[in-house]
Amino acid sequence: MDNQENAEPENKTKSENVQESNELQNENYVLINEDEENDSPVSSVSNEFIKNESCNSQNNQFIYDVIIIGAGLSGLYSAYYLTKKCNDLRILVIEGKDRLGGRTQSADLKCSEDGQKSKWDLGGQWVTDTQTHITKLLVELDLETYPQHIEGKKILETNGKMVNYNSSIPSVSILSLIDLQMGSMKISSNAKKISTIDPFENLNLASRLDSGNLDEFLLSKSFSSKSRSLLDPAIRTIFGVEASQINALFGLMYIKSGGGSLESLALSDKGCAQEKKVKGGTQQISERLAQIIKNNEKNKILLNTVLIEIKQDKEKICVMAKNLSGPISFECKKVISSIPINQYVHIDFDPELPIYKRHVFQFCQMGNLIKFIVTYSKPFWREKGFSGEVVSDGSVLWSKEWSNIEGVEIPKSGPIACVFDGTNDQGQAALVGFIGAKMAVEWTDQKDELRKQEVIEALVRYFGQEARNYLEYVEKIWAKEKFAGGCPTCNLSSSGVMQNYARAVREPFMNIHFCGTESATVWQGYMDGAIQSGERAANEVLYVLFKDDRSIDYDYENTFYFHNEMNRKNSISK
Ligand SMILES: Cc1cc2nc3c(=O)[nH]c(=O)nc-3n(C[C@H](O)[C@H](O)[C@H](O)COP(=O)(O)OP(=O)(O)OC[C@H]3O[C@@H](n4cnc5c(N)ncnc54)[C@H](O)[C@@H]3O)c2cc1C
Repeated sequence: MDNQENAEPENKTKSENVQESNELQNENYVLINEDEENDSPVSSVSNEFIKNESCNSQNNQFIYDVIIIGAGLSGLYSAYYLTKKCNDLRILVIEGKDRLGGRTQSADLKCSEDGQKSKWDLGGQWVTDTQTHITKLLVELDLETYPQHIEGKKILETNGKMVNYNSSIPSVSILSLIDLQMGSMKISSNAKKISTIDPFENLNLASRLDSGNLDEFLLSKSFSSKSRSLLDPAIRTIFGVEASQINALFGLMYIKSGGGSLESLALSDKGCAQEKKVKGGTQQISERLAQIIKNNEKNKILLNTVLIEIKQDKEKICVMAKNLSGPISFECKKVISSIPINQYVHIDFDPELPIYKRHVFQFCQMGNLIKFIVTYSKPFWREKGFSGEVVSDGSVLWSKEWSNIEGVEIPKSGPIACVFDGTNDQGQAALVGFIGAKMAVEWTDQKDELRKQEVIEALVRYFGQEARNYLEYVEKIWAKEKFAGGCPTCNLSSSGVMQNYARAVREPFMNIHFCGTESATVWQGYMDGAIQSGERAANEVLYVLFKDDRSIDYDYENTFYFHNEMNRKNSISK
């Protein structure tokens, strides 16, 4: 059997499932109820597991040393890093979905009239050289990048009007420009004072910021309503929520982790988050990592395997999951969990996770983005002098005309927050855009056809009638994605919840280590942050497993333990 179980749940017959169960058993997996119907994969199975309390170790001979939960970038990177540092380790990765990549997913879309297809990214897409972890990894995996097309006029649509501009910042009045620069300086200067490792290090500032949201603390006081209509679409796309839904300390920590300014997150210029794209799509990163992990025959990656419960004592840890055939359990020495932090509420822990973790996990809110990709036979907007970039406050709503159709409740605002030229390195043309935050909430449950028409009409408004002649329209509503529930990242929304953020997302709990982009200290929320966090968690596991064995090369300074030690020293010396 292939190491990577890539089964389509709906296409499998029951007998195929049972056959697979037998194969799994042959490989020393304990499979408890192979005849169980495959209905909801996240139903509670605790009672069935009680029959198998001792899980699968015999005389403390574990089948796996480390089990990694989640085959997104952070989980796969931690498995890759562990394998590189110590290829004797036996590593199992379990993934709930039937695919690798998590919040990265590349899809084949029509790119020519004769039906040829090419890859585009429905999830994470852009990288920049200042993101050192992903940049290094792309080189290691032999993946190339190409620049985001930015030449030409950009469009700003606010208060129902459209203006064109050529620079990074729109041609607004001198007063608005000063206002924008002052506000942006205020954000950067406050962000500079926040430590991403210990956001509460600057106690006075942190407590003040933690008691309010980004909107009331920074934006409403610093920017005029005109500048806000430029800023809000950027916030919607960066965080997937409105500024009023972001804890101010969380927001500044996030901005600090991604270069320290809103510009570095919002723009496509050199060093900014939208600078470059990966040739052939970002899902290849996970696929190539998985291939290298699987090249070591001790390792295994199981798809369609949903974590349900983790039981642990001092010596061992038991991971209980459910696959297409029913419950399955594994025992190991250490677990690295890479799932998005909003998913922890679906997992049982015995003993229970500490309250400081549960509190943060309960109060986080996953962002909400719908990403659309529209392919064309040529980049017609470039011929008209447009870059393809649009920022919109959603003030124009084409589908008002639909309001007399029975059963259709028309949203209050237009969907689009921003659009980019999505043409790939082969010159295959596309426009890529986002519906974000409150607009995404309004538009998620609309009829698919209405949402698509509204997007196409907006593209016609921006770039002309040619926008109607698309080859393919594809969109992904990330709020409906299982095991994520949204994107691009989890935000802390409530006030007064940041004191324990760093410990909640990074501190190991007995034998469980935590990674995932939400736990990163650089480029949190981004692919780079996912890689950084995977490396940290892997170093923690190497440190605890091989503390006394200096033949294994690990980086202690890149562990939660070291960060914690430094924080303690700092607070004593104050
Ligand atoms: C539309 C969109 C646009 C984005 N744009 C960019 C961009 O341009 N640049 C950028 O750098 N980043 C971008 N991001 C963010 C980036 O994709 C993420 O930060 C990154 O992929 C997160 O990786 P991760 O490993 O931390 O989490 P994930 O990718 O979410 O991986 C976690 C994995 O755990 C699995 N899992 C969850 N629960 C369970 C369970 N119970 N049992 C088993 N498995 C489970 C999930 O299925 C998933 O595969 C974007 C994301 C989206 C969706």
